[in-house]
Amino acid sequence: MRILVTGGAGFIGSHLCERLVEEGHEVMCLDNLCTGDPRNLETLQGHPRFRFILADAVSPINLTVDRVAHLASPASPVDYGRLSVETMMVNSLGTYQALELARKNGARFLLASTSEVYGDPLETPQGEEYHGNVNPVGPRACYDESKRFAEAMTSTYRRLYGLETVILRIFNTFGPRMRREDGRVVPNFILQAVAGEPITVYGDGTQTRSFCYVDDLVEGIRRALFTDAAVGEVINLGNDGEMTILELAERVRHLTGSASEISFRPLPEDDPQRRRPRLEKAREILSWEPRVSLEEGLSKVVEWFKEHPV
Ligand code: UDP
Repeated sequence: MRILVTGGAGFIGSHLCERLVEEGHEVMCLDNLCTGDPRNLETLQGHPRFRFILADAVSPINLTVDRVAHLASPASPVDYGRLSVETMMVNSLGTYQALELARKNGARFLLASTSEVYGDPLETPQGEEYHGNVNPVGPRACYDESKRFAEAMTSTYRRLYGLETVILRIFNTFGPRMRREDGRVVPNFILQAVAGEPITVYGDGTQTRSFCYVDDLVEGIRRALFTDAAVGEVINLGNDGEMTILELAERVRHLTGSASEISFRPLPEDDPQRRRPRLEKAREILSWEPRVSLEEGLSKVVEWFKEHPV
């Protein structure tokens, strides 16, 4: 199949491109490199079934495709704080352009949405039927609300045009190719622990997250692209092993044999207190299950940072 991956030079996008090429698909990767990195595509450069297109997803796209996987968007709180307008544009106008491309081609459309649509959830674990608790004027709104808009537009194209759509709500994911300056908790803690610097826990560290290793996530995305029963569905993807951020700090410290102290810093505004996906839909529809343990995944990230010092 011919598959367009927007945001294909990013952390998750590049793993997805590799996986799809390996399986024999023809992959077009569109990225403006605002947070993506061409080094993420090193293994694919020159491959006959891979093409990189340097472009912004907010511009009209004209390609022949069977599937569109729309992943383009800054995704770390530090990035979407720095690129707030760009984030809103790619999730609104960019989603429109990607949907239009899918509609013109009669292609299946997959939206990479996010657990952030649940905001600071009042229900836990979060099931797909929960409508969320989002502050529309807070510092995370540029991401949360524009992803909610992207979901609304995707659902509208399904209703209006009968487009085959799948919405995936992706929970915290980690793995090789997260950037050092990404600002997210896993790279921060690992780099701090390995350097013997204080591990910066925001707030009192009682807020929770559930971390999914990137290979597991990409397997879920791949299944969602090709499973007919996923069409028209909204599906959470992530790992349901919930832990506090303080516990994560301790596990990283233990794994790296670090003597770093824990340094408490102010909690960013609107930082969700609890996050854990309900995964029944993913298990049933995609026959999918996260498999990689936190320790195994973290070890791979530690190795990757060692091998990629800049
Ligand atoms: N966090 C932290 N220290 C850091 C970076 C993040 O304690 O150096 C916390 C952050 O406040 C949040 C959690 O870790 O509660 C996950 O943050 P991240 O930015 O990775 O992702 P989020 O789930 O908030 O989008």
